[in-house]
Amino acid sequence: MILKTYNLSKFFEGLRALDGVSISVPRESLTLIIGPNGSGKSTFINTVTGFYKADGGRVEYEGKDITNLPPHKIFREGIVRTFQIPRPFKKLTVIENLLMPLDNPGEQIRNAIMKNWVDFESEAVEKAYEILEFLNIDHLTFEKSENLSGGQLRLLEIGKALMTDAKLIVMDEPLAGVAPALAHEILRKVKELCDAGKTFLIVEHRLDIILEYADKVYVMGNGKVIAEGGKEVIEKPEVVEVYLGA
Ligand code: ADP
Ligand code: MG
Repeated sequence: MILKTYNLSKFFEGLRALDGVSISVPRESLTLIIGPNGSGKSTFINTVTGFYKADGGRVEYEGKDITNLPPHKIFREGIVRTFQIPRPFKKLTVIENLLMPLDNPGEQIRNAIMKNWVDFESEAVEKAYEILEFLNIDHLTFEKSENLSGGQLRLLEIGKALMTDAKLIVMDEPLAGVAPALAHEILRKVKELCDAGKTFLIVEHRLDIILEYADKVYVMGNGKVIAEGGKEVIEKPEVVEVYLGA
């Protein structure tokens, strides 16, 4: 297992947003977390990646305790995440966004990019081109990010994650607002990346599209894992019930 949580808990003023969540993510595969709105999926990701402090429990990455490390340290361990709402630098082109260091955005944006562009043969630039080709968005290399469609922005988010050498890529609703054909394309790329050594932990509620790609599924309800297993878990009565009750 590349990632394990043990009884992970997070409370907001008495609300048990995460109530003892234990999951295991096998390496080089796609683990999917589903569940109705408000069931704690984003809170789980935020707590695992250090954006929220856990109130209890433990997070282990590659056997190492990373509970409550700050986000930049968790990133350095090899975990990269995307957000429910993509946050590219809109005025920058696609390739410029890829060349932005993920752990250190902010003041020195232009400097960071210029440093990479000075040497056109630099590894970072070459890697960026390879990723754009792999994701089939190389025609958008010099497009300003603000002109991208919802689906293209998601691909850019994946591209940014791939620019890092993170082994575990955690994504919060990567298919939100993405047309079905492009969503399937994104997921096919995700599976190719699993075969190439990456691991994905994805929160998503568009089951109709993503379920067939999942290697392992966790279902959350009210801050707890209520079911886990293969794709067939969605047929369990407790899962049907939590969705109907939502
Ligand atoms: P999901 O991603 O499954 O839709 P969330 O993890 O966003 O659910 O939310 C789980 C619960 O925790 C919800 O009741 C939500 O209102 C609450 N919650 C999430 N983040 C915060 C926060 N920063 N402050 C207070 N309550 C929060
Ligand atoms: Mg959410």
